[in-house]
Parts: sequence; C-alpha cells; structure tokens
Amino acid sequence: EEKLLEVKDLKKYFPIKQGFLKQAEQIKAVDGITFDIYKGETLGIVGESGSGKSTLGRTIVRLYEPTDGEILFEGKNFEKVPSGQIGDFRKDMQMIFQDPFASLNPRMRIGEIIAEPLKVSTNLNKAQRKEKVINLLEKVGLPVETLTKFPHEFSGGQRQRIGIARALATNPKFIIADEPVSALDVSVQSQVLNLMQDLQEEFQLTYLFISHDLSVVKHICDRVGVMYLGKLVEIGSKADIYSVPLHPYTQALLSAIPVTNFDRKREKIHLKGEPPSPSNPPAGCPFHTRCPKAFDRCAIDQPELVLQKEGQYVACHLYDEKTVSPKENKDHAM
Ligand code: SF4
Ligand code: MG
Repeated sequence: EEKLLEVKDLKKYFPIKQGFLKQAEQIKAVDGITFDIYKGETLGIVGESGSGKSTLGRTIVRLYEPTDGEILFEGKNFEKVPSGQIGDFRKDMQMIFQDPFASLNPRMRIGEIIAEPLKVSTNLNKAQRKEKVINLLEKVGLPVETLTKFPHEFSGGQRQRIGIARALATNPKFIIADEPVSALDVSVQSQVLNLMQDLQEEFQLTYLFISHDLSVVKHICDRVGVMYLGKLVEIGSKADIYSVPLHPYTQALLSAIPVTNFDRKREKIHLKGEPPSPSNPPAGCPFHTRCPKAFDRCAIDQPELVLQKEGQYVACHLYDEKTVSPKENKDHAM
C-alpha cells in the first residue's frame, strides 16, 4: 500500500498566559502523534471533545502551524513549505467542517462560493468555472438552480453537500472531514456518508474522518485511531478495533455504543471523572487517572504506541513485555 500522508511525532502546543506574572503555560493539544494514511483509505480519528482531534486535522493542513514534528505529503515535507507556497498544496488537501457555512459570506451566491477555490488555484475562465460548478453540484446531488441561491436557503444536509462540492472544486487527493455529519439528523447523516463514499470511489479520494461518534466512524472508515489528551492511544483496522479493542480507553468508548452493533454483548464501562486538562496532563499514562485497569507502573511510565499484532498499535503497559502480568497485579487494579 502506498502512503499518501505520514505524520511523525506531530505536536501543536498553544501558549496560555496566566495572570500578570505572565507565567507561561501550554496546552498540549496534539502531543507527539505518529501515523500514516494510505492512498484511497478512510482513517477515522475518534475521541472525546478536547482530545485534540480537530487540532490534529487543522495542523496537518497547516491552518495551525505545527509546534514540532513532520508532515510528509506524497513524501514531501509539507511542514517546511513556506506559508506563501501553502496554496500549491492546499488544492490537493481540503477540509470539510461541521458547518461549512459558519465561515462563509452569507451574501455570496452558492455558485460564487463553489467557484472561489477555482479562481485561486486554476486558470479556468468564467464560463469554464461555471461549467465545473454545475458539474460539481450534480456530483453532490443538487439541482442547477442551487447556483444562484444563498446559503440560508438550504437545510443542514444540503449545506454539507455544498461544502463537499466546494472542497472537491480543486480536484484534491486528500480530504480532512471534521465532524461532517455531527450537526445533521441521523437519516440525513447516512445520506451524506454514502455520498462521501461514492465520491471517494469516483475521485480516488483519501479521507481523514474526525468524529466523536463511533457508530458514524464504523460506517465509513477502514482504519480507526483513538485519541486521548493529545495522544494516539490505539490505531488499527476497523475490524480489529471494533471486535478486539486492546486499549482500556477504546474498550470504554466502544462499550458505550448500543450492543446491537456487536456480535457479543458488552458491559458498559463507566469511566470515573472527566478528562484532565491538556495544560496539566497526568504523569505516566495520560489515562491512568480514569483507567479501570491502572496499576502501579501506569502513574510513573508513559506507555509508547507499539505494534501489538498486525497493523494494531497500542499505548498501554498491559501489553508491555516489561510489565508484570496484570493478573499478578490484581490487587492494584481498579
Ligand atoms: Fe490503563 Fe495503565 Fe494501560 Fe494506561 S497504561 S491504559 S493506565 S492499564
Ligand atoms: Mg472538534
């Protein structure tokens, strides 16, 4: 399989200044994340709000400047591209947001909105742009009359179709979708997801699909990565992650979706407390303050993301050779 994107030890820290002493503190929103995305696949990134998944997406396309690490797009170091030349890459990588119109001019007609990226990154003339926009509308299942209408005239599902058409305008290879269906009714969600899958096949797109909703991710993804407090704690094929999740956090997340989705019944795992602040993450395993399986070592050593079985990587001491068997540690568990 050919890699489209390689993310290596990516970090995005946001400085926060506190009080008049201006004591420097940082929010470690993305704290050393490494993974690859293969051409034509959909990689899902899941986690609770505040886990850093949106920041990860925005840092990959350099809507945020990375604090550290590497972003290789088709083997080229995208993180080193001067900001003035980012546009050359942006036509290859686009984003779809939860509400694509939140950042768009409500006074612009849909035709102009979709044509905007064409003006910037192609030399199509006006007539060619119009033809392309009509074609894009057709691809996303909207009538030609859409051209002359304004954003407020559309439902959430239609607006997401328009957002997708706009993202497709520059013939991108890679699309990062950040909670693209979270604001939509469940019936509309599956229509938009099916559309995304059809377009993926037609245009050989690669997706990074960010969502807090494990049912949605199960519908659309080939592989799944799980984030907690700015770190990737598990990544693997959808089949492996959903049938045999290894990380206790993944196990807890999956236990919260209805059992009808699964071959066997799962007990719901209740996590204690809220996720800690990313400005002050716990020492050791970032999950140890809530982990039902934590033992002595977890508060001290930070587990690395390591290969456990083919294609499935986990950051947890339970699977570490150096770790005393968790059975022998029963007294410390819980
Ligand atoms: Fe739980 Fe320890 Fe594994 Fe962290 S390393 S997930 S605290 S068992
Ligand atoms: Mg988010």
